[in-house]
Amino acid sequence: MIRSDFHIHTHNSCDCTKIGRSMEERIEELKAAGITDFGFSDHVHTFYNYPREIAASRREFDETLARHPELKGHMHFGIELSVMSEWEIDMIEHERIAEDSVPFQTFTYGLRWSDGPFNATPGMAINDYIRKQYGIEYVVAGVHWALFCYGDDKAVWDSYRRQYLTAIAHPHTDILAHWLWWWNEPAYIKGTQNPFYDFKKVPETFKDEIAWALKTYDTAFEVQPFFCVPRSFLAPDFHKEYMEYAAKLQDMGIRLTFGSDAHGAYQKPEDIAYVGRQMETAGIDTSKLYDFSERKPFYAEK
Ligand SMILES: [Zn+2]
Ligand SMILES: [Zn+2]
Repeated sequence: MIRSDFHIHTHNSCDCTKIGRSMEERIEELKAAGITDFGFSDHVHTFYNYPREIAASRREFDETLARHPELKGHMHFGIELSVMSEWEIDMIEHERIAEDSVPFQTFTYGLRWSDGPFNATPGMAINDYIRKQYGIEYVVAGVHWALFCYGDDKAVWDSYRRQYLTAIAHPHTDILAHWLWWWNEPAYIKGTQNPFYDFKKVPETFKDEIAWALKTYDTAFEVQPFFCVPRSFLAPDFHKEYMEYAAKLQDMGIRLTFGSDAHGAYQKPEDIAYVGRQMETAGIDTSKLYDFSERKPFYAEK
């Protein structure tokens, strides 16, 4: 049975302003779904997001927890941090580019439209000071785009691979978000096909490398319900193979977390229950999903 969820967005997140839920509303939804331990993890892409979305989330978190003292130790404050290029992090952090020169979304998603350095060096916009300032208890790190190399299939693969390893090994990362998730929407991906369409065709060497890195850096692996049921845009057995892989990781002693990645309404209680049963069938012990109870609190050293 699924009792925890550490990847939940609120209405403060840059992509949830219209569809999002307040933390108070989330608590009601989570209660209905039987989730007892959870964390909010709104998006951070660049340093630009902290004083806006994350400051708002932190404020709301403190106010909400003050109203719900019973949730102390069960409700956590995190972020979902995208891997970015070091180049754009630096450009934005040091204001080497004017905000009003960015053609869309301001700096929210970094400098995505631009011709940045081809297959750029990955990095993450976080540091000890920021983590302390906003009281960030945990970091979910995710890869959301290739870094300036769409149109070159080999480079896209390489970019994702380098970004995943960067995310897992980063000293601030606690959980690897939605491995193999592919964002199909933005215009700048220039029609590149999802290279992770078929789990079978993801090279064994890459699967082993991810497992090795998770184990080495003691980073948890997030199981997303999105991947646990058949999807029309993924190969028919993707969900089975994905969950079997997660079960194998758990057998290796790698921590698994459950992350719904809810942006709008939370999953229906029966859907959460169904995914829990699917995970069990695939060999995942859901009673051992990581829920922070044995973790040292606060930006623990890694
Ligand atoms: Zn994400
Ligand atoms: Zn997310």
